[in-house]
Amino acid sequence: TPTPKRIAVTGAAGQICYALLFRIAKNDVYGPDQPVILQLLDLPQAQDAVRGVVMELEDCAFPLLVDTIITDDPATAFRDADAAFFVGSRPRSKGMERRDLLSANAEIFRAQGRALNEAAKREAKVVVVGNPANTNAMILAANAPDFPTENVTSMIRLDHNRALTQLAAKAGVAVDSIDRLAVWGNHSPTMFADWTNATSQDDSLSDMIGDDAWYRETLIPNVARRGISIIEARGASSTASAANAAIGHMHDWINGSDGKWGSMGVHSNGEYDIPAGLMFGVPVICTDGRYERVEGLTFNDFQREMMARTIAELQEEREAVAALL
Ligand code: NDP
Repeated sequence: TPTPKRIAVTGAAGQICYALLFRIAKNDVYGPDQPVILQLLDLPQAQDAVRGVVMELEDCAFPLLVDTIITDDPATAFRDADAAFFVGSRPRSKGMERRDLLSANAEIFRAQGRALNEAAKREAKVVVVGNPANTNAMILAANAPDFPTENVTSMIRLDHNRALTQLAAKAGVAVDSIDRLAVWGNHSPTMFADWTNATSQDDSLSDMIGDDAWYRETLIPNVARRGISIIEARGASSTASAANAAIGHMHDWINGSDGKWGSMGVHSNGEYDIPAGLMFGVPVICTDGRYERVEGLTFNDFQREMMARTIAELQEEREAVAALL
């Protein structure tokens, strides 16, 4: 049997992890023959709750889950990790300003970056889910100087999946027939779901749908507002779909995307005039454990306007946490 893969997960007592951990333990990440060890991090006051989740994991008798570690020490959680899901982050409390939220999280991700730097395998694949995900990931990478920056990513896959389903329904095509969709920028209402290049079985999706007003005035805002719609309907934020997106992100990065486009938040080197250093959602193709940015795209005025908006927001976030970079 292969050596078990060590998967670190933060925020293990939280809602998203209540969906995520069971799918990792079943091994929806690496595939059916790969044993895994879960290394679970949460705050000291959440340790009992994590123990409860682990009892439930044990009661599933997952054949591939060979061990589980519970800790409140980041370096212990990240020790020799092959993959890490950073789900835990400080939620906004009543009366908290956005800037305070950003700096509270920046402190958490700075400490975790140092621990990642110290303890994880250099080839570990990292995805940040906890919000503000892009800026948290930027801080994590900045505080892990010996850890490859390209291995730190943030999740924008949920926005990608949301757009896929809405486009498939509008066009009357199967969701998995769609390729070349891109979601750019921040995982926030400024994200830009871009159908310019999208196809269904090689036909242009925008030509098939033929309704630019629907795209601009319905699809883009619906995807951006989807999280709020779920909170309104369910009385709680999205959890199973967020966990599913994190699984899809990591699964494709590890196993490849069969040449199809996905969207991942990755460190910008200045491609497409995205300011260098921002963690920014871009279209990628995954092959053999690596992602490649889709290159050579050109932008029209609408795309440039949408890109500028989400870039401006991420620059503001970066300014708010500049002292911790
Ligand atoms: P959830 O598990 O529901 O959410 C975790 C994070 O994921 C939040 O930041 C949330 O953002 C974010 N997120 C990203 N995308 C989505 C999406 N599409 N839908 C919903 N959420 C999304 O949070 P809980 O509060 O239940 O659990 C958090 C856990 O993290 C707690 O157990 C807490 O103790 C732990 N924690 C651990 C820390 C540490 O280890 N140092 C530090 C801080 C917290 P949003 O808030 O915007 O919904």
